Amino acid sequence: MKYISTRGGMAPQAFSDILLEGLAPDGGLAVPETLPQISADTLESWRGLSYADLAFEVLSRFATDIPADDLRRLTHAAYRPGIFSSEDIVPLRALDDGMHLLGLSEGPTLAFKDMAMQFLGQVFEYVLTRRGATLNILGATSGDTGSAAEYALRGKQGVAVFMLSPHGRMSAFQRAQMYSLQDENIHNIAVRGVFDEAQDIVKALAGDLDFKTRYRIGAVNSINWARIAAQVVYYFHGWLRATSAAGQQVSFAVPSGNFGNILSGHIARAMGLPVRRLVLATNENNVLEEFFRTGIYRPRGAEQTYATSSPSMDISRASNFERFVFDLTGRDPRRVKALWADLARDGYFDLASLKPGFESQYGFVAGTSTHADRLAVIRATYDATGVLVDPHTADGVKVAREFVEPGVPMLVLETALPAKFSDTIEEALGRPVTPPPALAGLESLPQRVEVMDCDAQLVRRYIEANAKV
Ligand SMILES: *Cc1c(COP(=O)(O)O)cnc(C)c1O
Repeated sequence: MKYISTRGGMAPQAFSDILLEGLAPDGGLAVPETLPQISADTLESWRGLSYADLAFEVLSRFATDIPADDLRRLTHAAYRPGIFSSEDIVPLRALDDGMHLLGLSEGPTLAFKDMAMQFLGQVFEYVLTRRGATLNILGATSGDTGSAAEYALRGKQGVAVFMLSPHGRMSAFQRAQMYSLQDENIHNIAVRGVFDEAQDIVKALAGDLDFKTRYRIGAVNSINWARIAAQVVYYFHGWLRATSAAGQQVSFAVPSGNFGNILSGHIARAMGLPVRRLVLATNENNVLEEFFRTGIYRPRGAEQTYATSSPSMDISRASNFERFVFDLTGRDPRRVKALWADLARDGYFDLASLKPGFESQYGFVAGTSTHADRLAVIRATYDATGVLVDPHTADGVKVAREFVEPGVPMLVLETALPAKFSDTIEEALGRPVTPPPALAGLESLPQRVEVMDCDAQLVRRYIEANAKV
């Protein structure tokens, strides 16, 4: 299996080679040359596999340059009960009306980013050790992604993490989660500024090619193909747990911002998984819902991006969307290049002519959820089933209801646990959430964080002094 760029300008590369890279050299995203196909018989033979063994089966189709025994060891190290609090890693729970919750938030940071990040931590360490190489991950976070990366890479050989966060602007829980890590290879840097300023520092340093090469600066951002591949696994797992016979269809509803999670559902479907619908749910930042409704993709700037009560979906430029558009255009890199040129020139591109195929060919439907919807869903779900859902998952439940069909299980992806977003739960139910027992004392643990002025030079010097070389 080799990987090419959505814009056609990259010689085919192996999985391990694209693993440590960000954008392809031509500005596109890495995609498999052809998608592996899983027959109905193979799928049936996977019933009863543990999550780790299923992950091996799926990922072995993508990481063909990693020997099978090694890959199996990596998936077993990533997906085990000591790291995930559920025996099944990803539990499936029934709600009402044919709806189910696919529990992707049993990992150390209580959000679905752990699902991909735990595998990434294992495979990064594996590839770096074999190459005798080191990597210094530099990133900025306003919450979920940074902590998932830190928990996945803590204590790993050959890799250090430098994670910038806006000083005083994350919740006490989020701060405690990141800053209480005492591992020597994890560096929390709180800058006196907002998230965008932290992000600008990352861009400035990663854009300095001399610095980037000398200190082997890397990233673990959402366009990383290994993350997308690792997420494909739980679509297969959900289907296997929700069905009992070959060919049965299920639908998935996915709270979306960056089009990362649901892209993996699209890939699973394209590999032959019997998926009827992929239901995309946005919050008030509904660029993607607008695309599926009109065929026009028009990203928005920071000033038009609302701060909502499902903050991890406050994204108005979906960085993984290009991979889906590549498929929509019949995998035509010239067409993709032209569309992104339109986007740069006009601020939008128009694929309305392909709109009839969005649902009939690809199964995509979409809807929007608002703050009032989230509160109502949190309350109604709790009253009807006793299950508490987080605000992002509530967006998924709200939109999923609009598309449930008799006889087709609707699996809503649970992207975070409610304990992470206690304020909104309190607004909905009139009382806060009790954190899971394992995290009860988290906020009183000693914290390890470097507070700095918002100055790229200060951050640069700190990395120079602490980088893995
Ligand atoms: C990141 C995140 C999302 C959005 O996922 P995308 O892959 O960006 O579409 C939704 N919910 C939570 C809790 C998240 O952390």
